[in-house]
Amino acid sequence: MMQILDGKATSLAIEAELTEAVQARLDQGLKRPHLAAVLVGDNPASRAYVGHKVKACARVGFVSTLVEQPTSITQSELLSAVRELNDNPDIDGFIVQLPLPDHIDDQEVLEAVLPTKDVDGFHPVNAGKMSLDLPCFLPATPKGIISLLDRAGIDTQGKHAVILGRSSIVGTPMALLLRRNGAPGNCTVTICHSRTQNLAEHTRRADILVAAIGRAHFVTEDMVKDGAVVIDVGINRIPDASKKSGSRLTGDVDFDNVAPKCSWITPVPGGVGPMTIASLMQNTLQACSNKDA
Ligand code: NDP
Repeated sequence: MMQILDGKATSLAIEAELTEAVQARLDQGLKRPHLAAVLVGDNPASRAYVGHKVKACARVGFVSTLVEQPTSITQSELLSAVRELNDNPDIDGFIVQLPLPDHIDDQEVLEAVLPTKDVDGFHPVNAGKMSLDLPCFLPATPKGIISLLDRAGIDTQGKHAVILGRSSIVGTPMALLLRRNGAPGNCTVTICHSRTQNLAEHTRRADILVAAIGRAHFVTEDMVKDGAVVIDVGINRIPDASKKSGSRLTGDVDFDNVAPKCSWITPVPGGVGPMTIASLMQNTLQACSNKDA
């Protein structure tokens, strides 16, 4: 029997916990968590993602600050903006929304973020700690997927996980977290990418299949084993004449045909997306409470 892995409902449960935790802080005379987001330029998708994050802060009782910068910002101006946030004692954590304009060196910007405020977990210090299984800020999307598996009670022990995509923000950290000695974890992990040969042979062996490549309906039913858990990270905009906007969002998985074969599957929207936001909120609370001691 196929079950929907409901990221929306799970994210609401996490938000309720966060709201309570904020109240508990206030009751103890501690500050509200404060998240800042740097948005460079006017990429509509980036603006929408940042907007979701700001709204989530309001729902759970965090303070948020949106720092908007023009596309024309120089590398050194952006680095100064990051340093200002590093130095601002009221800001517990912040993110720099990607992608950045082509003339900006993303890596230098991400490395300028103080690791203790790096709630996206993109700084090499946090990425390194993650790979060593040390406490750190985990990147929000893979962290959210782990929470979703955990809260649904899905057993990952000894399972074969196949990850489609090796990006440093989704595919690679997902693989690292699923291979951890823990629960969820203890998977045997295969990472596939654009040079993988006979991709379907790998995906058909997956007990847990995570699709994070950014191609609409890429994963078809012939690529999925009966009873698999399928996690669809993709966010792709495709034409849809029935919508007022003329388009809609869809994942990397051909949901209608794949879902009947699965034990569990995430929808798009309403799966990984809301879990990503909830995880960022959890990281922000963590950054804030790390400073209490
Ligand atoms: P990237 O473009 O950085 O990485 C895509 C990965 O997929 C690469 O490793 C690439 O391989 C691989 N790939 C591309 N085409 C193929 C193919 N035909 N066969 C096998 N592998 C392929 O994307 P991200 O990891 O940043 O994001 C992936 C998707 O997830 C996107 O749709 C993005 O919008 C979405 N996303 C969703 C989030 C959410 O909250 N739900 C958060 C972040 C991302 P190679 O390395 O060889 O190029």
